[in-house]
Amino acid sequence: MCGIFGIFGNTDASVNTALGLHALQHRGQEGGGIASWDNGLHSCHDTGRIGEIFGEQSILAQLPGTMAVGHVRYSTTGGPNQASVQPLKANFDFGEFALVHNGDITNFLQLKQRLVSQGALFQSTGDTEVILHLMAIQSESDFNKFQNALKQLKGAFSIIAISQNRMFVARDPHGFRPLVMGTLGDGYVFASETCALDIIGAEYKREINPGEVLIVSNHNIQSTYPLGHKTVKKFCVFENIYFSRPDSVHDGEVVYDVRKRIGIELAKESAVETDIVIPVPDSGVPSALGYAQEAGIPFEMGITRSHYRGRTFIQPEQKIRDLGVKLKHNALRSMKGKTVTVIDDSIVRGTTAKKIIKMLNKVGVKEVHVRIASPAVKHSCYYGLDTPTKKELIASQYTEQEVCDYIGATSLQHISMKALYKAVGSKKYCDACFTGNYPVEKAGIV
Ligand code: AMP
Repeated sequence: MCGIFGIFGNTDASVNTALGLHALQHRGQEGGGIASWDNGLHSCHDTGRIGEIFGEQSILAQLPGTMAVGHVRYSTTGGPNQASVQPLKANFDFGEFALVHNGDITNFLQLKQRLVSQGALFQSTGDTEVILHLMAIQSESDFNKFQNALKQLKGAFSIIAISQNRMFVARDPHGFRPLVMGTLGDGYVFASETCALDIIGAEYKREINPGEVLIVSNHNIQSTYPLGHKTVKKFCVFENIYFSRPDSVHDGEVVYDVRKRIGIELAKESAVETDIVIPVPDSGVPSALGYAQEAGIPFEMGITRSHYRGRTFIQPEQKIRDLGVKLKHNALRSMKGKTVTVIDDSIVRGTTAKKIIKMLNKVGVKEVHVRIASPAVKHSCYYGLDTPTKKELIASQYTEQEVCDYIGATSLQHISMKALYKAVGSKKYCDACFTGNYPVEKAGIV
């Protein structure tokens, strides 16, 4: 998880970064930060949401310059803490440097052990800091330090960095996490998702290619491939299913359209005759629309969602998560006596589905058939999504029928891998959370 943003050659760099981060808030709500460059590095980060951290004009006024990077954080490696809130900064022999990162570095513990034995003093528990220490032990130019550090990383990394008057932008050779490029006037903009370009009126240009490392200076961009040209795209399929905002574009496709197609394929495979189809809002809405359209069943917003809470899953502690679901959704009493099909994008721990069904039963629905717009999530993600241990994933421990019984549904069916790929349209995805086929191993875990 996490969202990153960078802007180069823009007179309102920090304001536009705050806006970009606001559009990426769904990628992390635990903390955020901005670093700008104006004859030196200026930075501000805190826990909380972007509006809370940067709401005061006076704070952004302390971040001058025409170049800035920013980050919204959801902790995967390292847990929630102040020291891990990015941008991370360092003072090297060449000068000041700041960096934002989305993804999980899978050989982080190995690298950290080696660096600590060589005398490195880590400040945070996050994986990103390892990059700074790898850079510190080399006597090279700033870019050489940066690219040599990247060469030692395994796993998922989309990175934007400020180094003096230049910006470095990098994506790992599998392109696990998204990273796009746009232009705003004469300047360049980089972001996790296109919705962050739209909010500031930037024009989308292209994706950063897997394995590509850019050097942006004086309105020139140099594209390099120091990590080798042998890249195998393994973009996270879950970005399309759940994580990205529906108005973002990945690989030329609007995420909303992809989700709707997933719903259509789900209906082709598993439609059941009910009075109405309802989504779990907001995550299930596009696929429920596709499902209802294909099945020819009326679509209703049978569950209301309060928008004054964050996403359930995005709050790391289970207790908060349980409370979150109660505060978030409520079922309409007018569904009494009806048979319903409930669509959600996924079941992870089973918390949401169980509570939603309890709510529906309470208002007196007759039958609740659950259809899920992803295959069963059976394996942890090592590349930046928060599915920490396998045993927490309900589908890794129980059969579909057992999960159905646990959540209290009349019937339960997930979309098949085949139908999912029919909807997403290519095989260039990482689907390890469903299949256990990990493109890159995580050190210490087989
Ligand atoms: P759970 O309640 O644990 O079964 O989680 C399922 C809910 O969390 C679904 O409604 C999804 O919208 C959301 N969700 C599923 N997978 C993820 C993920 N990897 N990261 C964040 N949220 C997720």
